[in-house]
Amino acid sequence: MLTVTDVSVNYGPVSALRNVSLHLQQGHVGTVIGANGAGKSTLLKVLSGLVAPSTGKVEFEGHGVVTQVPAHKRVRLGVAHVLEGHRVFGDQSVHANLLLGALDRYRSRAKRADVLTDVDAQYERFPILGQRRRQAAATLSGGEQQMLATAVALMSKPSVLLLDEPSLGLAPKLVDETFQLIATLRQEGLTILLVEQLAALALQVADEAWVLQRGSVVASGPAHELLGEMSVQEAYLGGA
Ligand code: ATP
Repeated sequence: MLTVTDVSVNYGPVSALRNVSLHLQQGHVGTVIGANGAGKSTLLKVLSGLVAPSTGKVEFEGHGVVTQVPAHKRVRLGVAHVLEGHRVFGDQSVHANLLLGALDRYRSRAKRADVLTDVDAQYERFPILGQRRRQAAATLSGGEQQMLATAVALMSKPSVLLLDEPSLGLAPKLVDETFQLIATLRQEGLTILLVEQLAALALQVADEAWVLQRGSVVASGPAHELLGEMSVQEAYLGGA
């Protein structure tokens, strides 16, 4: 579904990723775990086209090598990226944010009814968003904004969902709900790459995992195997 080969990223003198390779199968949840600054967000940005790697390549099944394809075109290839920090358009209503998630389709009169059906599906999945549909997104709680950011991403009908620390800043109950949602989306067949600092929870929901440390993959394998290994805990607890 998604293959990264030997990707390196440099921000000026900072080496954020060093020869990172991974392969995520269709319908699987993969997780990239590691300490602050290990390069996790950078990896997702390389996948969605927000950051260009200095070396290496990214391939999407059915589309070949996409390393040079800009971010707005990758959305059309089925990649949706929920950035860290639940980013939504704060001064726009919940409803408008959802429509913006499918703007290309909404502009076409023929497809508008489909988009509205999809918005209703998001209100069914996240009833609180339906209740708040006319509210400005900035007035939502952190947990609700995370739901909205995820719902906006789902509006593009992605085949791969990139989630950057969806649990960040959420109360424990909402963290549980977030991981429950990931499990549900997996059951529905969506391919997900999840970046998390909550390594144990991420490994419980994932099929495969990669541990990043200072920009390099230092461990990888089936998530349930990594869950039991000390090296993961060390990478998680240790410095970036
Ligand atoms: P966090 O959980 O804090 O977001 P992370 O594992 O996602 O950490 P990245 O955000 O990918 O890590 O950052 C990797 C390294 O690259 C860090 O040293 C960071 O300071 C640096 N970095 C990230 N973005 C930039 C940038 N735009 N310019 C310069 N350095 C950057």
